[in-house]
Amino acid sequence: MTSFKPRQNIMVVEDNPENQEILQKILEESYNITVVGDTQSALLLLMDSPATYSLVLLDIDLPNESCQEFLRQRNLHSRLQSIPVIVLTTEDGADEECCKLGADEFIRKPLKHAPVILARCSRIIDLYENKNLVQQTEKDKLSGLYTIDYFFEYLKQIIPLDMGSDRDAIVINIERFRLINEIYGRSVGDQILAQIGAYLQEMLVNLNAIACRAGADIFYVYCIHQDDYQDLQATLQNMLAKFANVNNIRVCIGVWQYVDRGTVDPESWFDRAKTACDRISGNFTTSVAIYNSGLHTKHLREERLIHDIYEAIEHKDLKVYYQPKYAIQGDKPHLRSAEALIRWIHPTLGFINPGDFIPLFESNGLIQMVDYYVWNEAAAQVRRWKEENHWTVPVSVNVSRIDIYDPDLENKLCNIMQENKLSPNEYMIEITESAYSENSKGLIEVLNSMRSKGFHIEMDDFGTGYSSLSMLTALPIDILKIDMSFVRNMELDEKNKKMAELIIDIAKFLKVPSVAEGVETESQLRTLRKMGCDVIQGYFFSKPVPPEEFVKFIEKEKSLWEK
Ligand code: C2E
Ligand code: CA
Ligand code: CA
Repeated sequence: MTSFKPRQNIMVVEDNPENQEILQKILEESYNITVVGDTQSALLLLMDSPATYSLVLLDIDLPNESCQEFLRQRNLHSRLQSIPVIVLTTEDGADEECCKLGADEFIRKPLKHAPVILARCSRIIDLYENKNLVQQTEKDKLSGLYTIDYFFEYLKQIIPLDMGSDRDAIVINIERFRLINEIYGRSVGDQILAQIGAYLQEMLVNLNAIACRAGADIFYVYCIHQDDYQDLQATLQNMLAKFANVNNIRVCIGVWQYVDRGTVDPESWFDRAKTACDRISGNFTTSVAIYNSGLHTKHLREERLIHDIYEAIEHKDLKVYYQPKYAIQGDKPHLRSAEALIRWIHPTLGFINPGDFIPLFESNGLIQMVDYYVWNEAAAQVRRWKEENHWTVPVSVNVSRIDIYDPDLENKLCNIMQENKLSPNEYMIEITESAYSENSKGLIEVLNSMRSKGFHIEMDDFGTGYSSLSMLTALPIDILKIDMSFVRNMELDEKNKKMAELIIDIAKFLKVPSVAEGVETESQLRTLRKMGCDVIQGYFFSKPVPPEEFVKFIEKEKSLWEK
């Protein structure tokens, strides 16, 4: 079965009526023909609807060298470059010049041998159809720049041929571009991106560069080294200002200078430039950032941690430590529960604090794997304490904001509890308040469902996440944890003391226990006790310790009860 193909249109640009007629006769059986007598009219028609025409047959003998001028114009306008041009030439025609100007093929006059003319036309049309098809996948429609896949593909091909001059990898990010779409509408957003694309294309020629649109509002450029990118930033920023009067939408540029072409792959060059760009995100005094040795060291370490985490889990280099929480409202403090906190004992880098890797793993999703490991370890530990010491220490595990997006979260935690024969009173979850304000609707749904299965939810770091007061009653919370910063500054500053008091009052209003963490001194403990805080966690009682060491708190608690 042959597929239906509409008749293609050929434009004949020829002022000689005799030739017009001959061409018409030869071509009309296979093609639609549009005849124009001069290049001005031809250009107007083509610019207006370039996709209509599959081929131009161009007479070389038009007055005022307008054939050559037509070819020059074609070189200036990218929308004309997808249409092939065959020049109708004569014995003494300027073939060489036309060839240099980009003519694709020649047909010699007088116009005889109809089958040869037809075959030439058909071959060139096919050739261009294929070429245009390939270009569509190479180029981003909106900006006219390469697509990211093609960009890296192409870079890999040209690197071996281009080891001479110094080069830079730059990332251009338009911060909060989303606002333009929201305020001015998508079509304005598209116009801006198209303008930036056109500007970069122009710039590419001077900087011997290639570029792509790497994300909705992110561009990558690989170019000859420049000492300064402030001018580029200012030009792009002005371009934005012409369209949108939103002063917190900003063009940020991150640069990895003097790309080291021998060592890492091109994707990593742009990761580095992006690291520099991310560093100035939200910083309104700096718009251009250079990737430097400090960032380089940080980047390498992060790459190392990402690489090593799989082995760490396999070899159990991740250790779960436990920090006791004490109920303080009775005569004596009583061990009430513990928080599971991860540590990484790396075989060569040594002891690594969670603050050094949790945010990194949250940014790339690996946190899900790490948390799953901690949840299992902690549950198994509670079971062991129960079996070995005949004592239950309820443990709370941290659930990252990223875990909330895992549709299997509830199942995973339920299975872990069942496998270790634990009840919801023995195994609780902590989730930071900022996760509530980030994705309140989704989070409330997930947590409500978990609560219906019996889980107890502790809201962590309360007071820093800007939950609106009106939302508080709708939040699924069983325990409220006051953020450490209020406790730390309680004695220095009346405002922080008031905040701690206020949060304890909110807990009372919600009829849930309050926990203060980061309590280091007896006087902090006394103040919090007076305010009505129920539970204390902090160095005053103990730092987080490995499970073998935690047993001493269990022993001590048991002996209190046995007295
Ligand atoms: P967080 O959940 O707010 O945990 C409390 C942090 O405060 C812990 O730091 C703990 O060691 C520290 N801390 C406790 N008492 C005191 C004190 O009296 N003084 C001071 N200065 N600090 C105290 P850590 O263990 O370094 O954990 C930091 C953060 O890393 C945690 O904050 C939590 O957000 C995250 N994290 C730790 N383990 C995990 C985990 O297994 N999964 C996830 N998703 N996050 C975790
Ligand atoms: Ca916590
Ligand atoms: Ca906390």
